Amino acid sequence: MKDEIVIAEAMHGQVRIHAAYTKDTVEAARQAHQCAPTSAAALGRVLTVTAIMASDLKKPDEKIVSIINGHGPAGTILAQADGQGNVRGFIGDPDLYFSREDGHLDVGRAVGRNGTLTVTKDLGLKEPFSGVVALRSGEIGEDFTYYFAVSEQTPSVVSVGVLVDTDWSILTAGGLIFQLMPGATEACISACEKTADSMRSMTSLLREGNTPEDIIRMYFPDAEILGRKDVRWHCGCSKERFEAALMTLKDSDLEEMIQDGKGAEIRCQYCSSLYQFDTEDLKNILNRKHVEDR
Ligand SMILES: [Zn+2]
Repeated sequence: MKDEIVIAEAMHGQVRIHAAYTKDTVEAARQAHQCAPTSAAALGRVLTVTAIMASDLKKPDEKIVSIINGHGPAGTILAQADGQGNVRGFIGDPDLYFSREDGHLDVGRAVGRNGTLTVTKDLGLKEPFSGVVALRSGEIGEDFTYYFAVSEQTPSVVSVGVLVDTDWSILTAGGLIFQLMPGATEACISACEKTADSMRSMTSLLREGNTPEDIIRMYFPDAEILGRKDVRWHCGCSKERFEAALMTLKDSDLEEMIQDGKGAEIRCQYCSSLYQFDTEDLKNILNRKHVEDR
């Protein structure tokens, strides 16, 4: 099964549904940041919900960024997704491994509960849209449910999960979000409440081999599939981009770096890739900077 997001509607358009399978995306994130299980689960959940939100973007270069900081040991968790299905992100502390008594990973403890979730949508307009809510539990799903209700006035059910294997690789990951559209009837609302109560965890459903479409049909037998979107881990950083960043440094700083002869190392915050610039590279950057100044 490849990573994808399936978009559907049900109950005569009164409910909109997104179901995502994101195992490879989350596994790539885990490998990039060398995450221990609870950090992998926390980052994977945020990446998955952010990718689902981005699947509604109309243009390829539009972006959504989710930032969670619950003042827990995880620090800041950031996920960015664009209109082409590219997802990247990071977690402040990738080394966390907290379990609850029932054996499940304790994401809430890693994230913390005293903080905020901020979602910024950059739709290429002058001002990006931004919404901030207080965290509910730090478990991510519940926090996004609250965000949709308060910041987007859309009653929603968010189920998101990441299952980590004993060797710390990702066994499965995915999410299901369903939302009431304006004008939903009482009957539809109560049917959705029943569905929410009867729902099993996304990770169990995916582990049994159900596809996102299967899961949608399981809970919404009359669902009509509206579209499918690919999703993948992709940072898009390059040595050229960091060269451009070095060119913004002052001449004196570059000259100092050239003189000490150690070169420079820059690590991409989003994907942890390391870029090396030796003294020769730095001299070239300084020269080019002067050419472009003229
Ligand atoms: Zn990168």
